[in-house]
Amino acid sequence: MDTACALLVQKIYHPFHPHPLVLFPNSDYWCDSCHRSFTDTFAFHCKACNFTMDYNCALMDPITCEGHEHIQHFSHQHPMELLGKDDECRMLSYACSLWRSAPIYGCRKCMYFLHKSCAELPLELRHPFHPSHTLLLRDLHGEVCNSCLQPDRNLDFHCKSCNFNLGVECIPLIPTIKYLGHNHLLCLMEDVDSKFQCNGYDAYCKTICHLQ
Ligand SMILES: [Zn+2]
Ligand SMILES: [Zn+2]
Ligand SMILES: [Zn+2]
Ligand SMILES: [Zn+2]
Ligand SMILES: [Zn+2]
Ligand SMILES: [Zn+2]
Repeated sequence: MDTACALLVQKIYHPFHPHPLVLFPNSDYWCDSCHRSFTDTFAFHCKACNFTMDYNCALMDPITCEGHEHIQHFSHQHPMELLGKDDECRMLSYACSLWRSAPIYGCRKCMYFLHKSCAELPLELRHPFHPSHTLLLRDLHGEVCNSCLQPDRNLDFHCKSCNFNLGVECIPLIPTIKYLGHNHLLCLMEDVDSKFQCNGYDAYCKTICHLQ
């Protein structure tokens, strides 16, 4: 369906979302199905949930995946087929923003992929970085991860009451040090690349950084 047709539809009921979606023209947003950013274009939006779909996604015909091993993941409207069993194709997983080879679940139509390991992440998690509350898996689009302090462009484990985010990329880190005077657990990170920077004011953190 093209833009002109979409404009005729002011409000839709979509199987991917429990509430009606209302057309919003000329907005900047992330689509909650294909997970791409859009600027100055038409969107279908649920205000209560801050849920948005671009008009192409919202008005796309349903896709079936019969006869193929597949999953229905909460982050995508279509069934996702298990891909790349036979070849060594490497795909960028939206969940962790890493390129890895199979097994991968994907929707080819939307070019949306998740590593099997990412797709099987629990929806709720207790994690030592935030021991007081259960974290819920969310798609937050650019919120800063409280562990690596990088803005995430992927899935996060989130505590709403504390506004705490833990990017999927940081889940494997294991806290090893509780340092007096530092509120957070520190962990020794192997495989550190330039995106991690010592914040300079914490002595122990500095020591660890200098050990790398
Ligand atoms: Zn979309
Ligand atoms: Zn809603
Ligand atoms: Zn992954
Ligand atoms: Zn799709
Ligand atoms: Zn992180
Ligand atoms: Zn919390």
